Amino acid sequence: AAKRANLTAQVYHQGMERDHRFQLSLISALRTAMEQDQLQLFLQPKAHSRSGQICGAEVLLRWQHPQHGLVSPQQFLPFAERSGLIVELTRWMLVAVLKLAKQWQEAGLNLQLSVNLSAADLADPSLPAYMADFLMHSRANPRLLTLEITESEVMRDPKLAVSSMQALRTLGFKLALDDFGTGNSALAYLQDMPVSEIKIDRSFVTHASQSSQGRVLIQAIVALAQTLGLHTVAEGVETAEQWQMLSAAGCDEIQGYLLAAPMPVAAFEAWLGKHQP
Ligand code: C2E
Ligand code: CA
Ligand code: CA
Ligand code: CA
Repeated sequence: AAKRANLTAQVYHQGMERDHRFQLSLISALRTAMEQDQLQLFLQPKAHSRSGQICGAEVLLRWQHPQHGLVSPQQFLPFAERSGLIVELTRWMLVAVLKLAKQWQEAGLNLQLSVNLSAADLADPSLPAYMADFLMHSRANPRLLTLEITESEVMRDPKLAVSSMQALRTLGFKLALDDFGTGNSALAYLQDMPVSEIKIDRSFVTHASQSSQGRVLIQAIVALAQTLGLHTVAEGVETAEQWQMLSAAGCDEIQGYLLAAPMPVAAFEAWLGKHQP
């Protein structure tokens, strides 16, 4: 038994070492990716649910890896978060997005851009100062940007999260509570959080098209948001029936494959030309 335990420990150790080495190589690969423009902004449109008018887009990161092809954020973000590289990654992304927002503004395109922040970003005490500095130099308009923060990220350290959110809000950014209704409920903090929007999680949208109970839940979330004066966006809208139901429930905006899947910036601009005369 002792021999087996020893063997287990050895295998475990080798596995950890390999994992560690793998993570290190991933971290350096991600650094290179940022430096060599392998990271791309993909955009997914959002529309007003009543008029169908395109009103904005969510920015979703993609990694165009020279060997592995297109890598999804779910594959590389956990590593970026654990290694702390996410802080650099988010700064890189925010600067790129603000540049795009400025370009659009100058071209007369009035669209709201949303970006995702992670818990590590909220715990980064220098992010607000960095953004303030960037805003001053670039003269980009922070009001064109909505920062999406998930409930579970807020709940990791609600006090710290709320104070970071307040600092970002003071700079002029809009804030949204992402994946609303999932995980640890941030309901108790909803009143204290400087958010102006909640994003109803895709799971609710899916359920709503399957049961009347699900529909009631969507109606309750929208009613709650309206009581608090919050804007609502539904994510993962895939069918016309879902759009119809959300619009009837009073949800302000929809986002999902029904409109379009996330696409590169140039493709998005071309798409917009066809969908928005
Ligand atoms: P999220 O913020 O909830 O983003 C929505 C995800 O749902 C996106 O996946 C999007 O492609 C996908 N989606 C959109 N419409 C539909 C639909 O109709 N049906 C289905 N089944 N899926 C839909 P994606 O791009 O793989 O991103 C996954 C997650 O990774 C995001 O979830 C977000 O939490 C995170 N993420 C993406 N980009 C960034 C980033 O730049 N920074 C940070 N911190 N997180 C990011
Ligand atoms: Ca999001
Ligand atoms: Ca979401
Ligand atoms: Ca999500």
